[in-house]
Amino acid sequence: MKKVYLDNASTTAIRAEVIQEITKVMAEDYGNPSSTHSFGRNAKSILELSRKSIAKQLNTSAQEIIFSSCGTEANNWILRSAVKDLKVQRIITSKIEHHAVLYTVLALQKEYGIQVDFVAIRPNGEIDITNLSELLSQEKKTLVSLMHVNNEIGTLLDLDRIGLICKQYNALFHSDTVQSIGKTTIDLQTVPVDFIVASAHKFHAPKGVGFAFVRKNSGLQPLFYGGEQEKGLRAGTEAVHQIAGMAKALELCYTNLETERNHISDLKSYLIERLEIEFPGFSINGNPNGFYNILNVLLPFSDDKTAMILFHLDMKGIAVSRGSACQSGSIKASHVLAEMLSDEDLKKPSLRISFSHYNTKEDIDLLIDGLKSIK
Ligand code: PLP
Repeated sequence: MKKVYLDNASTTAIRAEVIQEITKVMAEDYGNPSSTHSFGRNAKSILELSRKSIAKQLNTSAQEIIFSSCGTEANNWILRSAVKDLKVQRIITSKIEHHAVLYTVLALQKEYGIQVDFVAIRPNGEIDITNLSELLSQEKKTLVSLMHVNNEIGTLLDLDRIGLICKQYNALFHSDTVQSIGKTTIDLQTVPVDFIVASAHKFHAPKGVGFAFVRKNSGLQPLFYGGEQEKGLRAGTEAVHQIAGMAKALELCYTNLETERNHISDLKSYLIERLEIEFPGFSINGNPNGFYNILNVLLPFSDDKTAMILFHLDMKGIAVSRGSACQSGSIKASHVLAEMLSDEDLKKPSLRISFSHYNTKEDIDLLIDGLKSIK
């Protein structure tokens, strides 16, 4: 049975070149980058070359890249330190953020009594920018935290526009860019954002590694204490092999961006065409012109088919997701879809299909065949 992986917003396959790079570093470059002997210096050199390479892809300076264990850690660090050390008194965010942001903000509200405001979401899943400006006009030290690409519905935030509004009101701007890094160009010389985060496993590198971009002189303090790694901002021996793999993967993503984006966009259009023919009552959750690698659709299936849909597809070797990955095993409705669908529509099956350059038209045909056999 051919297996079909269409859950790339959840995690991605590691590129062969990345595995090769990681294996080489694990086998040959095992020194501790904090050691001063030649083994350590060699590991340190790999670490710093990786940092430089990542910084170059995002057009920023290497000193503004801080390695972390994942996107969740980087989000937690930035938000917590903004409140604790930068004395942010209010966070403006949205109810459709990933839980790595949403739950952190709610925990900070509880612990520090900060004000939390949720910006209104338009029916197509985009941020209501007028509402954001209204909220920002209250005077209070504020951080705005809004994700770049939504991991469930693929809606895209205009980082330039939001960054300028934040600047105008003197607010800090943090964006969870976990779904967009490596999939679209981000020029940090021009985008007015203070903090962004990345997670390697979303762009064809291994799990357990990520990074934060923290603009110079931000004043952030560490989340936990120990060694002097990462300029004292993130204690703990760096996972040199993971970091080298992440840098390699990001470089490959940007080298192949145009070709891979075109390929994936074509696949998405093809899937929409086939859905229109086979399931005329279907609709797209979020903006139909959302980010090119994510499509969230509501299918016109009866209630009794809804519960088993993922199971049936899985039996056929097809992996897609219902809502976000952490919820796909449970029957809890997606907190993102809950913000935009009626109670009636929430009971119907919504599927998130997310692509990578490894997917083919045949994968789409197999998904459609799988869905037709359930209908
Ligand atoms: N933010 C977004 C938008 C995500 O999609 C994810 C992963 O699902 C995360 C944060 C968490 O990243 P990580 O798995 O590296 O902790």
